[in-house]
Amino acid sequence: MAKILYFNIPAHGHVNPSLPVVRELVRRGETVVTYNTDEFRPLVEPTGAAFRPYPPTALTAAEIAGRLQDGNLARISALFLQVTEQLLPFALDELARERPDLILFDGVVLWGRMAAAQQGLPAAATLTTFILDGTREVRRGSRALLQALRWLPQVPEILQARLRLTRAYGKAFPNVPPLFPVRGGLNILFTARELQPPTHVVDKTFRFVGPAIDPAAAAEPLPFDLPGRGPLVYISLGTIHNRAEPFYRQCFEAFADYPARFVLSAGKETDLPALGEIPPNFVVRPSVPQLAVLARADAFITHGGVNSIHEGLYFGVPLLLIPQQLEQLFAARIAAGRGPGRVLEEMLVRGRIKTAALRAGLAGLLEEPRYREAAAALQTILRGTGGYREAADEIQAFIARAT
Ligand code: UDP
Repeated sequence: MAKILYFNIPAHGHVNPSLPVVRELVRRGETVVTYNTDEFRPLVEPTGAAFRPYPPTALTAAEIAGRLQDGNLARISALFLQVTEQLLPFALDELARERPDLILFDGVVLWGRMAAAQQGLPAAATLTTFILDGTREVRRGSRALLQALRWLPQVPEILQARLRLTRAYGKAFPNVPPLFPVRGGLNILFTARELQPPTHVVDKTFRFVGPAIDPAAAAEPLPFDLPGRGPLVYISLGTIHNRAEPFYRQCFEAFADYPARFVLSAGKETDLPALGEIPPNFVVRPSVPQLAVLARADAFITHGGVNSIHEGLYFGVPLLLIPQQLEQLFAARIAAGRGPGRVLEEMLVRGRIKTAALRAGLAGLLEEPRYREAAAALQTILRGTGGYREAADEIQAFIARAT
């Protein structure tokens, strides 16, 4: 059987879809060694894969969240380039010691891709985003796009890091636009082909396996009682942009007397007592078993993280999309363009949304059948994909072709 080294980053949005894939590869008898920061060891080890921590660098969950807090995507690119310079020697040592058959890497893990190229080893990527380059959703204008002007100060740092990597490693640096997501000889996307908008980047190396969802996680009982009666609405801004106390209080104000019950995932960094009085129709937790909640939900108020969008649609749940940064805006536009929800862009443009817009947005989702019908149609498409098993099939077939 083959030996696979899998390099990832400490972010739930990148690790979560990888877990069922790793578990499946291990179940099929492959040896998988996964790399991440120690914070993610407890999530990864139950898959049966070996876990190796990265040496200490600036790559931590807190640093990623801190850099993304104001939506500046250039600061996160700069971090991944900086960390590549630090972790590439480590990755090369691991490759020399482990002598793997395949390097698997998340689409932001440049050091994984470069280590494989340097050693001439087969490399495959798992991509947890849509491919956005050249798509209609990106080209469509909006005042929100002015945000990108704030990225300019990072440009010299990014260019210098790219130059240093090219000088040090030559052709191992993938000097083709776009740099991120970094691609391999095989590229696995956790979406359906029908949802990926046309782009010149997608070629025959891409496989659309759909969301990697473990059905057992969805069937788990909820670790809390649901308050009262009425439709169930799930609110979450994901695991990065969730220090949003004013938004959570606004949800209380908008929905305290609304005939529905609400589960709000407020994030582990939020000071729950500081949110004040919680209305009786709300359950608020730092984190919830999202798949189990969505399996029971009637509407999802979400930031438009690519995993959240797919998990919601996998359960046929209409989406009220409130993006916190541009990548989420584009993903939200892709999803809403298929009819299962609406995008409120005001949060990106003005830093807040009107309470009335929040209330009207949810009422529309719950009362107009067209949203639920479109979500059900997408649910059928997503459930028709092969998910984590297809990802494992593709990875094994790629190894067989390469060796
Ligand atoms: N998640 C969870 N419980 C929570 C909040 C989030 O399990 O209370 C999971 C969610 O199911 C998803 C991931 O965290 O798999 C968030 O990824 P996404 O791409 O939606 O957003 P990000 O956190 O990367 O912004």
